[in-house]
Amino acid sequence: MSVRLVNAAGRAGLCVDGRIVDLERRSEGRFAPDPMAALARWDELCDWAPGVAASGEDALLDEAQLGPCVPRPAKVFGVGLNYRAHAAEAGLEAPKQPLIFTKFPSCLTGPRADVPLTSERVDYEVELVAVIGRRGRRIEESRALDHVAGYCVGQDISDRALQFSDKPPQFSLGKSADGYGPIGPAVVSLDAFEDPDDLALWCEVSGERLQDDRTRDMIFPVAELVAFLSRYCTLEPGDLIFTGTPSGVGSVRDPRRYLVPGDEIASGVEGIGVLHNRCVAGD
Ligand code: ZN
Repeated sequence: MSVRLVNAAGRAGLCVDGRIVDLERRSEGRFAPDPMAALARWDELCDWAPGVAASGEDALLDEAQLGPCVPRPAKVFGVGLNYRAHAAEAGLEAPKQPLIFTKFPSCLTGPRADVPLTSERVDYEVELVAVIGRRGRRIEESRALDHVAGYCVGQDISDRALQFSDKPPQFSLGKSADGYGPIGPAVVSLDAFEDPDDLALWCEVSGERLQDDRTRDMIFPVAELVAFLSRYCTLEPGDLIFTGTPSGVGSVRDPRRYLVPGDEIASGVEGIGVLHNRCVAGD
């Protein structure tokens, strides 16, 4: 049975049958309440969780109350141009090795959080996010998925005005404004997926479907990204990899489709769930 780990008002919970089972209370203190601590003991959690059933005493799942399922990762990697059709629409050649930037962890927010816009050229990017569950360095590609706790949905919101304000572009700040990293609703263990390398993902803005693809179209699949990153950085439980966005982003559409206050961004990945984030005017 798969595990769905959520962050309910700062406390780790398991999503079971539409309810949230509080991890610390149900385990009688075996697991700490912090979601980061749960990720640090992911293997143990996956052994324990299948015996857990929800009861009427467990709170009903209300996604509006959820925080980012991984609240304080040490590292948040982003991958640029990881889908061929997206590289082509951007007018760029597909990269020969993964093109990595960072999103600062402070940009992470929950699955229903508002997104304060920082310019008139803010863009959406639905992405599959891989969550590391086991520490490792120089991880072999063939064993890389053993180091992945699970997946969640992510939105790599990007201020293109800031990102491309000069040459070379500055990806990290342009993609790290407060609220620019909605993730969730849950970290879903890989055993939930028939084929973890082939999941549908899509994005709708105010009801219009603008991105629609499958993760099998990635140039560098998750295992290759884990192997590549771990050549240089020790990966730790909770580290996140935003694995890149498919085609259809607003900045290369004709006409352009930038986010405006009042827009609702719905971002979905098959087998995980949907993020619903509303755009609001920035201050
Ligand atoms: Zn991205």
